[in-house]
Amino acid sequence: MSEIEQSLLGSVPRGLFIGGEWRPAESGAEFVVHDPATGAELARVADAARVDGLAALDAASDAQPKWAATSPRERSEILRRAFEIVTARAEEFALLMTLEMGKPLAESRAEVAYGAEFLRWFAEEAPRIAGRYATAPDGRNRLLVRKRPVGPSLLITPWNFPLAMATRKVAPAIAAGCTSLLKPAALTPLTALLFAQVLQEAGVPAGVVNVIPTTDPGGVTGPLLLDPRLRKLSFTGSTEVGQRLIADASAQVLRVSMELGGNAPFLIFEDADLDAAVEGALVAKLRNGGEACVAANRFLVAESIAADFTARLVEGMRRYVSARGTDPTSTIGPLIDEKTRAKVAELVASAVGEGAKVLTGGEIPSGPGYFYPPTVLAEVPPHARILTEEIFGPVAPITTFRDEDEAVRLANASEYGLVCFVYTTDLNRALRLSESLETGMLGVNTGMVSNPAAPFGGVKQSGLGREGGAEGIEEYLETTYIGIADPMVRL
Ligand code: NAD
Repeated sequence: MSEIEQSLLGSVPRGLFIGGEWRPAESGAEFVVHDPATGAELARVADAARVDGLAALDAASDAQPKWAATSPRERSEILRRAFEIVTARAEEFALLMTLEMGKPLAESRAEVAYGAEFLRWFAEEAPRIAGRYATAPDGRNRLLVRKRPVGPSLLITPWNFPLAMATRKVAPAIAAGCTSLLKPAALTPLTALLFAQVLQEAGVPAGVVNVIPTTDPGGVTGPLLLDPRLRKLSFTGSTEVGQRLIADASAQVLRVSMELGGNAPFLIFEDADLDAAVEGALVAKLRNGGEACVAANRFLVAESIAADFTARLVEGMRRYVSARGTDPTSTIGPLIDEKTRAKVAELVASAVGEGAKVLTGGEIPSGPGYFYPPTVLAEVPPHARILTEEIFGPVAPITTFRDEDEAVRLANASEYGLVCFVYTTDLNRALRLSESLETGMLGVNTGMVSNPAAPFGGVKQSGLGREGGAEGIEEYLETTYIGIADPMVRL
């Protein structure tokens, strides 16, 4: 490990952040965070248990009334300061994410910019929380509708975008006037802890944001979901865990937001600009090493151009360099852990067993770390398991379609509906597809749709609610309606 890496790791807080203070877990327990490129230990972090989770809820619940009463401008300015600090410390955040999550530094820098933008975006949204005053249809009464914060919110985030998944939840919670408990993934808690330090420096009052890393997520969050002081659950992670949490959240009828798994189809029509499609395919497949909910999971290509597209995609994939993310030549890092790599390898083996052909990649390299090479699979039969499950790795299965109807039918044949990508130069076709594809988001001639100013989220088993855009803050706002007798009638 380099000196810069050691000094950064030495400066990151390792405790739980509860009520504005850094503290060890009540039991004194700690867990180890590893570098997925080498398997080496990076740091030991306090491991929250049930009692620590409840202490964080005490702090959030105590801070809630005063925080809800702050002015929107005050909350906005705190967020703006947090944006400035994260941006000024971008290199630290980027290196830390590369160390604990593995992606190349250039991608970590892009995530810092993306993640910080949620702080700026919601700084701008806080003063725009609005209600309405209207006349009832019968003309007699007046209707006053106002918004207020939902209340203490549990925010659970995954490991694949350690900063952006946290800012996408914490920023709208702060903007809306909600206190929160952030539970980052145990694989990548360091970025969340550094972020908590930044929030404190930006002026977030004690108890407004609490951070509780744990290796026992169910044991810590289960009691919180049953506690009537908690009012909201926002979760990003797998559909399987999300489904369980929705069930658990039903006991207190909690407001829930769910950003779950995806199985994005990437459709290329015969009229597509093929150079652009290949470039978009590489971004949609290999960004974050394929470990993204919006990663292209299935390439559906018009029969007439399939051979040409496939050859160019193979060429593009072969240009990627697998190396530790801190290596300047690295364009793809390791997968997060052995379990994830084994699942990717198993899906590839199963596709090959079902008749797919490996055109590049497909072999686990020797050496340390959880590397898996960019892989292209052709002639994947439409019923193959790899087309129905989230791959979460750098593997591109290609299958073909005859016409638009078949393309839509194949694209929609999934329980997921997070994002679709479409390459076509026919505007009418793109608009038609925006109506017929079952998806929360659609990329037209682009391999990347994520944008803090846009409503991110899915339909079907990909989730509930939206993050970002004008919609993002609504997830943290409750509506109060006040019925008023006709004020024109003098009493
Ligand atoms: P995961 O579901 O295993 O874990 C997500 C988070 O939930 C982690 O913080 C984990 O500790 C926590 N968790 C796990 N079990 C829990 C329990 N019983 N109670 C409470 N919390 C629990 O998912 P992951 O492997 O960290 O992330 C990958 C998944 O996340 C993929 O399916 C991916 O598609 C999805 N994801 C979705 C989006 C989106 O916006 N839709 C974004 C990123 C990732």
